[in-house]
Amino acid sequence: MKLEGIHHVTAITGDAPGNVDFYARVLGLRLVKKSVNQDDPTVYHLFYGDERGDPGADITFFEYPNARPGRAGAGMVHTIGWRVASSEAIGFWESRLGDEGFETERYPDGRLAFRDPEGLRHALIPSATDDEPLIADHPQVPKEVALQGFNGVRAYAHDPEQSRTFLEGALSFEHHGEASWEVRGEERGGLYFYDQTDERGVGGAGTVHHVAWASPMDDHEAWRERVEAAGASPTPVIDRFYFRSIYFREPSGVLFEIATMGPGFAVDEPAEHLGERLSLPPNYEQLRDRLEQVLTPLPDTRRQLATGGR
Ligand code: ZN
Repeated sequence: MKLEGIHHVTAITGDAPGNVDFYARVLGLRLVKKSVNQDDPTVYHLFYGDERGDPGADITFFEYPNARPGRAGAGMVHTIGWRVASSEAIGFWESRLGDEGFETERYPDGRLAFRDPEGLRHALIPSATDDEPLIADHPQVPKEVALQGFNGVRAYAHDPEQSRTFLEGALSFEHHGEASWEVRGEERGGLYFYDQTDERGVGGAGTVHHVAWASPMDDHEAWRERVEAAGASPTPVIDRFYFRSIYFREPSGVLFEIATMGPGFAVDEPAEHLGERLSLPPNYEQLRDRLEQVLTPLPDTRRQLATGGR
């Protein structure tokens, strides 16, 4: 039984309209689902991804309106890595992000790192892999240079060695050298790294809340049993409508989720109109009119780009 790399990464935003502008307009991802927090339907849960909203390219944000900026520390993911095809793609993003007023840092190994408007750190990594590129359509981002899905995530830990037995035993992560692992299934893979720190983090805007690993539908219940048998405390299976989930902390404190690869985002709206309309869990549908008035209006970057505006 193997996990199919990263399913999604979930982070926190204090500024939902600015978040849509950055991820959909600047980075060129598709807003594939505009939903609400299942525990508080007056705030958004936004999902961005490739054109189909596949597991492997899905970054999601909980909206905590006007949240204070956080800071990644031990037990938190601090950098989200994305695959791109080539060094030409790195050049494209260096200039596009620069034109938008973002500082970038290019490393000797070819990576390009930057932070989103709330301080969440990303790296674009030229990657040779046979995994299918997961790309969104965007009129200003040619397919050859577009983000292709997750390369991996880097987390902070006091002592990365503490997690090793759990990652390799319970989750079948494959050790790849010092504090790095590959998580590869039949279709896709992703990487997981630790960097050592003794600093405590502070949750808040611009920090990662959790990372979800992808499970084939039929393996999900068995993963839960394995996690529990290894001494972690997984939640019961929770129905997130677009996938089913369990959550638990790994020994270094990073919040992990294991999410099923289906049924996917087209379960409640047609694939060609993903993310255009507010998607509500069935029990909140009766509140739609009220919620649509309370939620912050978001830019429709697709329509704006299609009609030639910003
Ligand atoms: Zn999640």
